[in-house]
Amino acid sequence: MEQPPDTARRIALQIRAATDAAQKTYTFDDEHDPHLPADRWFQGSTDGLVLFIVFYTQACRWSACSGCNLPSVSASGPVGFPALARQVDHVLDDPAVCAKKAAIAKVIVSNNGSVLDEVTFPTTALMYLVARLNLELPAMRVLSLESRPEYVDVEELEFLARAMRERPVPAEIELAVGFEAFDDGIRNKVFLKGLSLRTFEALVERIRHPHFRLKCYFMQKPVATLSDAAAVTDVCAGIDYLDGVARRSGVAMNLHLNPTYVAHGTPLEAAFLAGDYTPPRLTDVARAVLHGAGKALSIFVGLNDEGLAVSGGSFLRREDGPLVEVLERFNRTQDYATLRRSCEGLGVFGTVVGDVPD
Ligand code: SF4
Repeated sequence: MEQPPDTARRIALQIRAATDAAQKTYTFDDEHDPHLPADRWFQGSTDGLVLFIVFYTQACRWSACSGCNLPSVSASGPVGFPALARQVDHVLDDPAVCAKKAAIAKVIVSNNGSVLDEVTFPTTALMYLVARLNLELPAMRVLSLESRPEYVDVEELEFLARAMRERPVPAEIELAVGFEAFDDGIRNKVFLKGLSLRTFEALVERIRHPHFRLKCYFMQKPVATLSDAAAVTDVCAGIDYLDGVARRSGVAMNLHLNPTYVAHGTPLEAAFLAGDYTPPRLTDVARAVLHGAGKALSIFVGLNDEGLAVSGGSFLRREDGPLVEVLERFNRTQDYATLRRSCEGLGVFGTVVGDVPD
C-alpha cells in the first residue's frame, strides 16, 4: 500500500529528526531514478557466488547511527512498489547478472536500511523479488535479508521460508542485522545503534526454531574514541559473544566484519578532519579475524566501502592489495591456517604492536 500523505510526511520528518539529532549533515539522494537500484555487486563466499543488491528506497527510519551515511544514497520520501518492481527487473535483466544466474548461490537483499520494514520496503516488492528469484536462480541456496530486529516479523519470515521450500532445490533464509560494536557503551551511547543484548538474544530465540541463519554486521573501529588496539579487542569480544550464542542456540552464525571507512556528513568525518581519527589498518582487521579460529561461526570481511568514504578516509590503503587478496580468499574458504601463514608471509604481524590473538 502506498503511504498516505500524512504518514509519508511523518516518516520523512522522523528520518530528518534522527539525522539532525546524530549531528549528521548529509542530504538524501532524491535525484536518483526510482526505477533503478542504488547498487549491486558480486562477492565470493563459502556459500558460493553472492549477488548483493542494494535497492533504492526511502531512507532507514532509524537513521541515528553516528558513523553511518547509508541514508545519503536513499530517498527522503517513499518509493512505491511499482518503482521497486522495476528495480528488481533492472537487476535481474542486467546482462552481467543474467550471465551468472546459473551460478548465483546466495542473494543478499539490502536497501541500506531494513528490507523487512514494510514502510520503507513495500511487501509486494519483496514478494515480487522472491518470485523472480525462485523462477530464475536455480542454484540459490540462501536468501539473506537485511533488517533491524524490530522489523523482524517471524510470521513473515515463515511465509518467505515456505516460498524457499517451494523451489526445486530449497533455500534457507538468513537474517542480517547490524550489531556494529560489542561494547555496550560504544554501541549505544557513542554509535547510537539502539540495540541491547536483550533485544538481540530475543531475536535469536525467535528465529531458532524456524532454523533461520543469522548474519551480524560488525564494524572495526566505528568511533573515534577507540584506539586501534581497543578496536581489535572489541571485535574479538564480539566473536567470543557470538560463539557462545551460536553454541547455546544452535543458530548458524556469521560475523560480517566491515572495517570502518570515514563516511561523509558524519561526526566521524569531523574527527577525521581534525586529525582525531584514522580508519583501521587492514593488518589489524586480519588480526581480529584470526581470533575466530575454532569458534562456532563463520567470518566474512567486507572490503567494499561502496564509494561512500571521504577522500583519504577509506580503510583501503595503496599497499593493501596483497592482503585484500588474502582476505578475499579467506572469505571463500574460512581456512585459518592459510590466513595465518599468508599474513606471516606478508609480514602483517611485524607491523603491529602486541600479540596476534589466538
Ligand atoms: S547503520 Fe543501519 S540502522 Fe543504523 S542508521 Fe545506518 S542503515 Fe540505519
